[in-house]
Amino acid sequence: MDEVAPGVFVGTAEIYTTTTTVVAGADGGCLVIDPAVTVADLAALAGWLSSRGLRPAAGWSTHPHWDHVLWSRDLGDAARYATPRAAEVAARERPALVSELREAAPGHDLALFARLAPLPGQEIPWRGPRATVVAHDAHAPGHGAVYLPARGGLVAGDMCSDIETPLLDLASADPFGDYRRGLGALASLPGVRVVVPGHGHVGDRREFRRRVAADFGYLDAVEAGREPEDPRLAEGWLREEHTRQRALAAS
Ligand SMILES: [Zn+2]
Repeated sequence: MDEVAPGVFVGTAEIYTTTTTVVAGADGGCLVIDPAVTVADLAALAGWLSSRGLRPAAGWSTHPHWDHVLWSRDLGDAARYATPRAAEVAARERPALVSELREAAPGHDLALFARLAPLPGQEIPWRGPRATVVAHDAHAPGHGAVYLPARGGLVAGDMCSDIETPLLDLASADPFGDYRRGLGALASLPGVRVVVPGHGHVGDRREFRRRVAADFGYLDAVEAGREPEDPRLAEGWLREEHTRQRALAAS
């Protein structure tokens, strides 16, 4: 776990370069965002927390994809929140999420998987640095990034990555529009000094601006029917998603 801002720790799992974020709060309580990804990863996280004298006071899932709605017994029984839309989608799509989970990261306690409470309002209720939620529908319905104004920290969920281009919610009625609105909402946050993508590497203020520009550039190219010159389009699975997104734009 690396301390990327005072009291903000990020761990990175081997699978998909998936990040887990922990924000330290009052009296040993902490906010745990998107704990991931294997059973062993979650056990290591619980071990690290107890070695630091931390226990989860609240959990947050940024969006209703299987690798962002995990939990384990050892993390305790804190309330786990998501946006109301994400909580609803996670409940409705549970069978599909469970089968994706079983395929990619077997062995998790299904009783704890994707059990999310809808967050009333825009602030995560916990005793720690203010954590406000930026809700939008880019990438997934009810995507909720967490912004920590006092730390300048943005936990972006599956956006603003150095290794993944924008991945649209292809089931949406307006995937490109949704993505632009979500990215615009993140870009307009004042004072982002550190960005944590759901997959990829932590970036500073300049890197955040660079990624936002690269992501808008990607959307511009794809919507205009051009092949973007984007070095992130290296891996096979990402190229496949990219091909789907180009086909959608063309249709
Ligand atoms: Zn995702």
